[in-house]
Amino acid sequence: MLWTSWVGALLLLTAVGWRSALGQAVPITLEGGTLLNPESPPIPNATIVIQDGRILCAGAADTCRRPARSKSVDVRGAYVGPGLIDSHVHYGQTGWVDGRPDAVDVRAQYPYDSVVSVLASHPETFHRAYLCSGVTSVFDVGGFPWSIGIARETRNSSSAPRMLAAGPLLATIRVLPQMAGQFVFMNDDSTVRAAVRAHRALGADALKVWYIEVPDSLRPHMKAMLMAAADEARKVGLRLIVHATELRAAKDALQAGAVVLVHDVFAGTIDSEFVVAAKRNGTIVIPTLTVLEGYADVFLGGSPASRYPFDCVDRATRAKLETILPDTLRARGKAFWGGPEAARLRETGADNLRRLYSAGIPIAMGTDAGNPGTAHGPSVYREMEAMQEAGMPARAVFAAATIVAARALALDREVGSVAAGKRADLVVFGADPTADIRNARQVRFVVRNGVLYSRDDLLPK
Ligand SMILES: [Zn+2]
Repeated sequence: MLWTSWVGALLLLTAVGWRSALGQAVPITLEGGTLLNPESPPIPNATIVIQDGRILCAGAADTCRRPARSKSVDVRGAYVGPGLIDSHVHYGQTGWVDGRPDAVDVRAQYPYDSVVSVLASHPETFHRAYLCSGVTSVFDVGGFPWSIGIARETRNSSSAPRMLAAGPLLATIRVLPQMAGQFVFMNDDSTVRAAVRAHRALGADALKVWYIEVPDSLRPHMKAMLMAAADEARKVGLRLIVHATELRAAKDALQAGAVVLVHDVFAGTIDSEFVVAAKRNGTIVIPTLTVLEGYADVFLGGSPASRYPFDCVDRATRAKLETILPDTLRARGKAFWGGPEAARLRETGADNLRRLYSAGIPIAMGTDAGNPGTAHGPSVYREMEAMQEAGMPARAVFAAATIVAARALALDREVGSVAAGKRADLVVFGADPTADIRNARQVRFVVRNGVLYSRDDLLPK
């Protein structure tokens, strides 16, 4: 019976073409569903009114009334929540190895410059995959300077998720020359400070330091560079976000004042010193558990399709994800990803997530999409499920994927919950994701900036 109301709404949508002129002028009312806000109790039989890209009101039917002239969508039996937010993505990477020649070199078949030029000129492929998966905001935490331009264009878009971008990463190691456009090597103090000011001038939304471990002899220098980057970022008003996956490095990042750690700690067990420092900063941690599974799939010849659905993924990306690399290319990583060391990283990541959660450290959902095996869009489902499997209750995972992620993007006044005045970025689920996060896969409708799409509208053609 539920299905019939959805079908009815779908037909109505097609009939009136809400995505065009009518959508802006006439309010849309979602009626009869259960309203899910991440930090308050669910409200059954709720009404949500949206107009001109904003939420006019949301709540019980007697507190939020349907305007006389509005288009009504019957969502009885369904669950309406804020749009999901992936707080760790890379539009400069494809989701497969052709975007990471430093991991697997397929440049003979997929010339890297051509791969990047397609990424730069066709962000709409990933925009659609995100919306199709119920994701209405993303944080690109490192990439080419053009990612900042793409992010700016999404600000008031109804056909792309709202995107923030950090631009090129300040790095402790040198990368392949072809990938250099995404990195600034932290050679000395003046290079670092000039890079931070350049980020500010370009319009970056944050400053990301790629704090990869270096030999002990170079550590003091790189720690000084991290501190210089942090100091300059403070001066120009950029938020510091850091990649630091070893405990010692993550503590350096906290000492530098990082407000977001873009990964969990995968090596070393989180201790009270870490927790105290993270609490002092109010640092938000993004676990990115599934990116490890993605690399394992690539090197062990597994398919990500067994971990998350592919139907929101465009055909070209899907074909790549379904390709099993020849043994010669997999040889390098096979022993590692199939061995005890990779298993230990996964176990430590899950164990640290449990520790962070029980210590009350805010956790935001992020996938590291774009990395090999981690597709833009539907990989959010597997990430949320991995967080639940690690011991976070479904409600906490839902909060991590909405309001806490909004805080990680410093966009929580704009998105992350369903409240009057906020941007109308919503998802209608067919089952309750706060009862079991696996229900988040059941996306029925997505509203981005006030425009309502059925999921079918968003599937790749
Ligand atoms: Zn990343």
